[in-house]
Amino acid sequence: MSQKRVLITGAAGFLGSHLCDKFVSEGYFVIGMDNFITGDSKNIAHLTGNSNFRFVEHDVTNYINIEGDLDYILHFASPASPIDYLKIPIQTLKVGSLGTHNCLGLARSKGARMLIASTSEVYGDPLVHPQTEDYYGNVNTIGPRGVYDEAKRFQEAITMAYHRFHGLETRIVRIFNTYGPRMRLNDGRVIPAFMGQALRGEDLTVFGDGSQTRSFCYVSDQVDGIYKLLLSDYANPVNIGNPHEISIKDFAEEIIQLTGTDQKVIYKDLPVDDPMQRQPDITKAKDILGWEPKVGRAEGMKKTFDYFKSLTEDELYKSEH
Ligand code: NAD
Ligand code: UDP
Repeated sequence: MSQKRVLITGAAGFLGSHLCDKFVSEGYFVIGMDNFITGDSKNIAHLTGNSNFRFVEHDVTNYINIEGDLDYILHFASPASPIDYLKIPIQTLKVGSLGTHNCLGLARSKGARMLIASTSEVYGDPLVHPQTEDYYGNVNTIGPRGVYDEAKRFQEAITMAYHRFHGLETRIVRIFNTYGPRMRLNDGRVIPAFMGQALRGEDLTVFGDGSQTRSFCYVSDQVDGIYKLLLSDYANPVNIGNPHEISIKDFAEEIIQLTGTDQKVIYKDLPVDDPMQRQPDITKAKDILGWEPKVGRAEGMKKTFDYFKSLTEDELYKSEH
């Protein structure tokens, strides 16, 4: 049987780089694509020289040209952290819309199966809890987060249109807050933010009163769920996340315990449209994929903290964003 070939966009990012590792280790030939707008070549440096990996620097909002066959396309290119997509709102909309359209066109021309990285943000500030895939969501189209949420909702819509109209094989993963090594320390998301603050001896900044909740999934579980979904025959969206929910205030205390620091929690304004609660209902993933998370928060956070501790002083204090 010939070696399967997969294109992964967003390859130099957090999730994309872990997916490259997974597919290389499963025996695929991986083409990683990225324009480094929020990613880092360091995340895939260890794959340089691997005969089963090739990197292409390219902005996927422009026409994508790949020579040879492709079996799968995983479209993960997109800013993912609120401060990233607030800083580059137009690029965020473009990569979710034009970028997805280019990937779908490529998938069609190659006869490849396409998986898109959607998000729990399609549920907006949810009025249904926990969130099931059949919930339509509560998104403020014109709010600052709308650039990300609506790009992802459009991405799902055009993907289903290609599936229904062109018969393209497609998969949609709705990813809930995922964390682990290779997150950018200064990307503004809560885990790198708190860990960086603890390591620099700064107080931990909780936004709002900290009663908002999130449910954090370790990266190896997320990658495993995505892999199983890609190889399944299920075209409708599937939530992949860890249902273990915690308030951000309690989470800050947990980080202080874990890092053994004596930092305090300080309170800052809650960003506009910050969802008040988020927890995946993973019944579908369990039933259809036989998947559920294996790594608890204590174990996952320890591995993540070990990674952040291994960064250099320069990286730790680099505040540029
Ligand atoms: P990330 O910022 O680490 O990675 C995104 C990568 O996409 C970066 O390397 C960036 O340079 C690249 N990129 C952005 N625009 C591009 C373009 N136009 N052309 C080529 N490359 C481009 O973010 P991440 O956490 O790894 O997220 C990856 C994907 O997963 C995103 O689509 C995101 O929306 C989705 N997602 C992630 C989470 C999470 O918790 N990490 C949750 C929900 C959804
Ligand atoms: N948050 C916080 N302090 C920070 C960064 C984030 O209290 O320094 C909060 C943020 O307001 C949100 C939660 O942590 O309620 C998760 O934020 P993140 O940006 O990680 O992800 P998202 O809001 O996209 O789930």
